[in-house]
Amino acid sequence: MNVASVTCTACKRSGAFFFRPYSGEKLCRRCFVKSIEEKVRDTIAKYQMLDFDDKIAVAVSGGKDSVSLLHVLAKIEKKYSKASIVAITVDEGIRGYRDEALKIAAENCKKLGVEHHVISFEELYGFTLDSIVKRLKQKSESGLTPCAYCGVLRRKALNIAARNIQADKLVTAHTLDDETQTILLNIFHGDVLRIAREKPVTDEAHPKLVQKAKPFCEIPEKETALYAYVRKIRFQNMPCPYASEALRNDVRIMLNRIEEKHAGIKFTIFKSMERIRPALEEIAEKEGLKECSECGEPTTERICRTCQMLKQI
Ligand code: SF4
Ligand code: ZN
Repeated sequence: MNVASVTCTACKRSGAFFFRPYSGEKLCRRCFVKSIEEKVRDTIAKYQMLDFDDKIAVAVSGGKDSVSLLHVLAKIEKKYSKASIVAITVDEGIRGYRDEALKIAAENCKKLGVEHHVISFEELYGFTLDSIVKRLKQKSESGLTPCAYCGVLRRKALNIAARNIQADKLVTAHTLDDETQTILLNIFHGDVLRIAREKPVTDEAHPKLVQKAKPFCEIPEKETALYAYVRKIRFQNMPCPYASEALRNDVRIMLNRIEEKHAGIKFTIFKSMERIRPALEEIAEKEGLKECSECGEPTTERICRTCQMLKQI
């Protein structure tokens, strides 16, 4: 749709540059930026994600989503004198990729005056992701992709880093796209109960688990990228060299194709899950959380996924 000659439906003054197919809005740059920031505020309030005096750890990878989120939260946080923001970047050890992202993350933190912490797979687990991939290729017995290892190891690293800095909340930049992909992936993997745990804001399930929140969970990925572009925020553009191997990539392509033909389908999936989640939670609760017999971190199994994976390596 050509929106060049259309007036913004919000301010009714400036020319629109963006059409939001699922709502019918046509927005100018200013109103678009405002709409994203308001949506984040509304999402935080709706799910009661943050308290006025929280120490908030933001997971910042250096990509468009996390850097945009850092900028939005830094703006919101200014109004809450007792709240504070700290950024955490996980260095998985991916040569030629994460080094650039780390620089961009640090640059953005400096610009916003946000304290920045880096935690690496190497210091935490004794392996970089590159060395894990190399070892697995030599062994050729694990059917898992690099992302499967990376995701599990990063989740644990973020929780440890957030706990170490005594953060009240760990905030991640998962978008509506990430959330709907994860819902489908959990179904594809036969791990539906995970949907119960991966909600917009997690419960205080265990003293060693920092509560997680996702203020972008109702914002499409396209719009977080556009937010960064309009506000001239620098982010890493290069895709991870291992990304194409993941099933998530196929799910992303599939969902985008359907969304193009049927605007709003991602919201429908997300909202459907919100409705059935309480029932899933009841079942998941029975499983409960224990501490891993190897590392002591919270898990639903006797040995946590990270320790199981590290043993395979
Ligand atoms: Fe890790 Fe996969 Fe993301 Fe690369 S694409 S950073 S391997 S989860
Ligand atoms: Zn406008």
